[in-house]
Amino acid sequence: MSMASSSFSGSGNALMWFRKGLRIHDNPALECASKGVTGGGFLYPVFVIDPHYMEPDPRASSPGSSRAGLNRIRFLLESLKDLDLSLRKLGSRLLVMKGEPGEVLINCLKQWKVEKLCFEYDTDPYYQQLDIRVKDYASAARIEVFSPVSHTLFNPADIIQKNGGRPPVSYQSFLKLAGEPSWASSPLMTIFPSLPSVGDVGSSQIVEVPTLEELGYVDIEMGNELPPFRGGESEGLKRLREAISNEKWVATFEKPKGDPSAFLRPATTTLSPYLKFGCVSSRYFYQCIQDVYTRNKKHTSPPVSLLGQLLWRDFFYTVAFGTPNFDQMRGNKICKQIPWNDNDELLTAWREAKTGYPWIDAIMTQLHKWGWMHHLARHCVACFLTRGDLFVHWEKGRDVFERLLIDSDWAINNGNWMWLSCSSFFYQYNRIYSPISFGKKYDPNGNYIRHFLPILKDMPKEYIYEPWTAPLSVQAKAKCIIGKDYPKPMVSHDSASKDCKQKLAAAYELNKKLNGIVSEEDLKVLQRKLDATCDSVLNPVHSHSSSGAKRQRRS
Ligand code: FAD
Repeated sequence: MSMASSSFSGSGNALMWFRKGLRIHDNPALECASKGVTGGGFLYPVFVIDPHYMEPDPRASSPGSSRAGLNRIRFLLESLKDLDLSLRKLGSRLLVMKGEPGEVLINCLKQWKVEKLCFEYDTDPYYQQLDIRVKDYASAARIEVFSPVSHTLFNPADIIQKNGGRPPVSYQSFLKLAGEPSWASSPLMTIFPSLPSVGDVGSSQIVEVPTLEELGYVDIEMGNELPPFRGGESEGLKRLREAISNEKWVATFEKPKGDPSAFLRPATTTLSPYLKFGCVSSRYFYQCIQDVYTRNKKHTSPPVSLLGQLLWRDFFYTVAFGTPNFDQMRGNKICKQIPWNDNDELLTAWREAKTGYPWIDAIMTQLHKWGWMHHLARHCVACFLTRGDLFVHWEKGRDVFERLLIDSDWAINNGNWMWLSCSSFFYQYNRIYSPISFGKKYDPNGNYIRHFLPILKDMPKEYIYEPWTAPLSVQAKAKCIIGKDYPKPMVSHDSASKDCKQKLAAAYELNKKLNGIVSEEDLKVLQRKLDATCDSVLNPVHSHSSSGAKRQRRS
């Protein structure tokens, strides 16, 4: 059993504020809160439901709130339920409240005469803002605050400091700076025989963990396929143990060799939703992998190994924390300035899985249905939307992922969108994923497409990736007429990708010439020049629906 690294001297009540870190194991904030309660004090474990995050938005493009798709909301509720159950087994419970989190929390601190406030440190801008407010109140009210870093392997601030105040922008330099985490060989699994009891909550409105229906989600049509992820620490640890028990698989894991089309048994751990909400500790995961490596001396290494994947996570957290405006192109020093288009028609077709490219549309359907896709599948659709075919702004695609992914993570999502759009980290814009041949390599029969796009389930294998090339008689036999039952391709990949490369070459040239200081006006001038020369995005293979796009972009 590990000991909390900080403890309070006074007695009285403590409040454990859960936000992410929805777990009991390796939770230093919970450990400290429980140890801080002495002299007949109480421990108040709190989670605040922010209505902005959870309430149905009837105007949203798919079921869910304005900020989160229904799959992520369901996952969060299941995680809270599981946490509540675990706390109850230890003689405590989760106090769920609704409202603006800062306001609700400050009220609790006042009402319950809290002397110690504990919560996991969070680097996301949303929490950075919120936490300043709460810490300011706590300091004025002489409440002790303990906010340890336990969501990531390293403290991003430490790495940035080691690098002279700048975040490392390459994975290799990050690895060199990071080294071994300080806790690498300390026990992290806390064993709580029990937790201090919960005191009187006064007039605070405590609710049970709500159901989706109680949040206002009624008559939701989710189709016949629920995502295969049940939220919570119990399920997360079960999945972690299953993954880790296959030692050969862990020791030989090589990310680029995974099959993105495998869906009955995905090629990776599928732990990302559990890491996102902190149902599984990334530090505990790290130690489990290290244990396997100790027993299996011959194993793969970063960047492709399983440990390497966790380090990618920390890499993006570190760069994101140290880069102002990380989530936008403008004002972001590490992001190339590129004259992306804002074409909503192209964006909508991509988002709604109506591009006419089955491989792309199947992946986007998996995003809607599961809220999770394999990493290389994410590569394909992000590349297609941005630098590969449609030249739509990466921030628009990022928004769609941010809302629909269960594992939606501010640092990782933004970092990967910049990567895939060749805006940062990766610059080989001539290497474009083919929406036809890439998927075919892994899944020549198109089983993945048939599963997620059942309209194409009877299309013969030789046409499944390019159904518009099937003779009409074949389409009729497969009960799928292209242009009627399934869309024609919205662009010709060959010419669209050629145009994209040309545009990126010109944008890179401009960034180089102006030393990265590219104004809005410079981009507009470049855009006009490129519009005059490159036009194939607006020239689909078959001319359906192109005129609208043309009108919109030119206006
Ligand atoms: P595994 O391969 O089993 O890896 C284990 C863990 O390592 C993952 O759970 C994740 O926490 C971390 N990891 C793996 N790959 C990466 C990576 N490239 N960058 C950072 N961390 C990584 N991942 C998210 O967790 N949230 C996101 O919002 C997100 N958005 C993405 C957007 C795009 C455009 C792309 C290309 C990738 C994105 N990823 C995101 C990264 C990656 O695709 C997922 O982490 C991974 O597919 C999750 O599956 P897994 O848990 O089975 O991964």
